[in-house]
Amino acid sequence: MFDSITGSIRSAVNKIRHKDDAASLKKAVTELRKSLLKSDVHHKTTKELITAVELETKKNGIGQDSFLNALKDELTKLLTTDGNQGFVFSNTPPTTILMTGLQGSGKTTTTGKLANYLKQRKKKVLVAAADLQRLAAVEQLKQIAEQVEVDIYFDDNEKDPVKIAIAAQEKAKAEHYDVLLVDTAGRLAIDEELMLQLKEVRDSIKVDEIFYVADSLTGHDATKTATTFKEKIGIDGVILSKYDGDTKGGVALSIAHQVGIPLRFVGIGEKMPDLEVFIPDRIVSRLMGAGDIEGLAEKTSAVIDEKKAKEVTKKIKKGEFNFNDFLDQLSMMSKLGSMKSIIGMIPGLSQMAGPLKDMDFENSDEIKRIKALIASMTPKEREQPSLMNASRKKRIAKGSGLTEMQINKILKQFKNASKMAKKLSSKGGMKGLQNMMS
Ligand code: GDP
Repeated sequence: MFDSITGSIRSAVNKIRHKDDAASLKKAVTELRKSLLKSDVHHKTTKELITAVELETKKNGIGQDSFLNALKDELTKLLTTDGNQGFVFSNTPPTTILMTGLQGSGKTTTTGKLANYLKQRKKKVLVAAADLQRLAAVEQLKQIAEQVEVDIYFDDNEKDPVKIAIAAQEKAKAEHYDVLLVDTAGRLAIDEELMLQLKEVRDSIKVDEIFYVADSLTGHDATKTATTFKEKIGIDGVILSKYDGDTKGGVALSIAHQVGIPLRFVGIGEKMPDLEVFIPDRIVSRLMGAGDIEGLAEKTSAVIDEKKAKEVTKKIKKGEFNFNDFLDQLSMMSKLGSMKSIIGMIPGLSQMAGPLKDMDFENSDEIKRIKALIASMTPKEREQPSLMNASRKKRIAKGSGLTEMQINKILKQFKNASKMAKKLSSKGGMKGLQNMMS
């Protein structure tokens, strides 16, 4: 997610060749300034950051390590703004969040992503369709709610968003929801009528926080509109959407500092799992190319069903891993989100991964073929792949549109993988793996 900035940092550091070499520090600093500006980091922010890094490095003795340490400290300071980090729950549920943003910014999609994020963390979530401005917004939210399997409050006969918000909060209280996310109206540009409506909604219910969804593709405009929203209605957090399409990426570094409001989440794709929590320490670690193991662990533990994982491990040990288990594992992987987001969390991997980063695992031809095969199998065949014989294969070929050769290949791969997994999971398995690798 921060490839270009991480690359700039690396090349700036490499400019420092010798200890106490003031000229090379100048070169490093100049390189960093140029690339930060090119990445759309706000010019004031860039200047402050560079000055502080230079000063700090000099103070601690010029060298690559002291430069990196200074940069790490200053970046952390830069990203840390007074206010909450991540998602914060109120002591009096439902924690109620107003989702605001301009039309097209990704507000409705982000509402769904946030609902999904909270649901994965075992929270009971209600979304409210109070964006009555855009014709299709209610319909879109209904579809998204269905997709991430959270409840939605809407009223097709109601024209007043204030009434929707009040009724939704009453429902959320009565039915003990943990969180209520209210999708409010967006406009193409900021206008007084919109602000008035948002204020009315804000004042009619208990609101814990107001999130502003900013489109990172609008560059410095994202900062400007967020500032206006802050001044007019008061916002508590920014969510930067479409960061996956932002090749520059600098807005994420300066928006919190410029607006004076923490950046809380970043949207990194169109799918529901494509939302990353923005915790300054962790982000700095990723920027420095050191990954974010803590973030990865948190993410996987929210998605992985422990009980199921244990069952599957047992099956693998007995050599009974079947096609149903395989489908379960696939669906779990898709909940983790895009490959890109995971790669950046593993130290060193983003530099090495290359084409892997753009891989859409779920939609790869290989996986599509396997899914087609499984879809044409009977429940019994999925449980017991060993049942497969020539006539069954013929039937499956017809149903799946695969050739018998393709079917044989997948079945063989599956058999081998299952054997290998059994071997590795038995005692001394890791040794076996090491032997194989060497
Ligand atoms: P709204 O008018 O603000 O509610 O905007 P929508 O939620 O309808 O989003 C507008 C478009 O942006 C849709 O096509 C979304 O799929 C897309 N979108 C939203 N967030 C992201 C993101 O993080 N990455 C990408 N690539 N697209 C996004």
